[in-house]
Amino acid sequence: MCGIFGIFGHPEAANLTYLGLHALQHRGQESAGIVSTDGTQLYMHRGMGHVHDVFPERELATLLGTAAIGHVRYSTAGGSHIRNAQPLAVDYARGSVALAHNGNLTNARELRERLEARGSIFQTNSDTEVIVHMIAGSTQRNVEDRIADALQHARGAYSLVLLTEEQMIAVRDPHGFRPLCLGEVDVPGQSHPAVLVASEGTSFDLVGARFVREIRPGELVVIDGKGVRSTRPLGEPTPKLCVFEYVYFARPDSVIDGLSVYEVRKAFGRRLAEEHPVEADVVVPVPDSGVPAAKGYADRSGIPFEMGLIRSHYVGRTFIEPQQSIRHFGVRLKFNPVAPLLRGKRVVVIDDSIVRGTTVRKIITMIKNAGASEVHVRISSPPTTWPCYYGIDTPTRRELIASSHSVEEIRKYIGATSLGYLSAEGMLGEVHEDEKDGDHVRGFCHACFTGEYPVPFDDSVPPRLLRLVGV
Ligand code: AMP
Repeated sequence: MCGIFGIFGHPEAANLTYLGLHALQHRGQESAGIVSTDGTQLYMHRGMGHVHDVFPERELATLLGTAAIGHVRYSTAGGSHIRNAQPLAVDYARGSVALAHNGNLTNARELRERLEARGSIFQTNSDTEVIVHMIAGSTQRNVEDRIADALQHARGAYSLVLLTEEQMIAVRDPHGFRPLCLGEVDVPGQSHPAVLVASEGTSFDLVGARFVREIRPGELVVIDGKGVRSTRPLGEPTPKLCVFEYVYFARPDSVIDGLSVYEVRKAFGRRLAEEHPVEADVVVPVPDSGVPAAKGYADRSGIPFEMGLIRSHYVGRTFIEPQQSIRHFGVRLKFNPVAPLLRGKRVVVIDDSIVRGTTVRKIITMIKNAGASEVHVRISSPPTTWPCYYGIDTPTRRELIASSHSVEEIRKYIGATSLGYLSAEGMLGEVHEDEKDGDHVRGFCHACFTGEYPVPFDDSVPPRLLRLVGV
């Protein structure tokens, strides 16, 4: 899980990239980086932590030039190291190139072994470096052909933005697992607008830019002094956008594949109310991810909506545990119930997903302790039963509670009065699977719910290891 951003043709390229990365911070909090160019060389700064902490003003001031790309990387257990921070930037025989990647190659190990056998030496354990080596090793004449050549060998998920001294290039794999879109912003005193690329269009709002369009699955877009050119060098597209972007991952104020993430989440909630109705007094979301679905559930069921749980937005990455053990401490740090709204009530709690089951279990205890008489849990996605190999950080199958427990067993474990999940058909209906949007037919990857993986992966590589090699 990562966020990528780029801008070409703007005198404040690095500053706008910094702001764009702020708007993508939800896609990754482990590390952040920016590479810029003034047409003669690349300038880079990367660091561990949030965008705000990585880029003090004095560092931003060193990122010269009118083009820049940036990256935020998702926090994972163990793989957290500065050498895996992105963008990656290298000098090779034909110039310099920097690359920011969102996704996960499913054949990275095989490609790496092949490259190492030919003498490549790797500096990181990230799959992104494999792409860089393949670009450097290509014999094609210009950089866009070298990128296309390199990506012929890559399988899996990649939304990329690359920067050379003269060009910015954006590419999306033929399945379009991860989102990527184009924008533009007017530059005072300049006849043509600056061009932007980002994982989510919300980042355009923050820098005063306009959303232009999605980059389509399999599309390669070159942005340079001559303008914007699009090619499709990667074969026929087979759209498989990650449906989990709508469930949890993307910001609700984003529009992806023509659909408002907020509206989709609300529609999931309405559908959930139809599939799993219940007699209750109040609908309460687990904030923030459960809010739009809870609104939809409340609208459709007629049960009043209340913010019965309050979330602290100031929970840092590290905190001091009290010496005396306080039960449910971690979850208390993040959530607290509004007891008067819950006392004596039959409560419907809405969350977007259950992964290990630990969060919702503690929340239910909290709501019961606040005096609720019944706690009905409704989840606005199907049971999460399979790990993701395409760029979302999920635990192994063993840790996914729904992969080895029935809904009734999960209900008992979490201590709910009743439990209902949105069906896969319901979910895919609300994202309009197989419907046309212009010349594009919407298609989704839903492997985490169904086990139907659109691209094979090397199953000797467990997802934990894939996480270490960098998402
Ligand atoms: P768990 O306690 O493992 O069941 O966590 C479930 C919660 O984590 C849900 O409320 C989701 O909002 C959130 N969540 C779902 N998927 C992810 C993910 N890949 N990374 C981080 N949080 C997630």
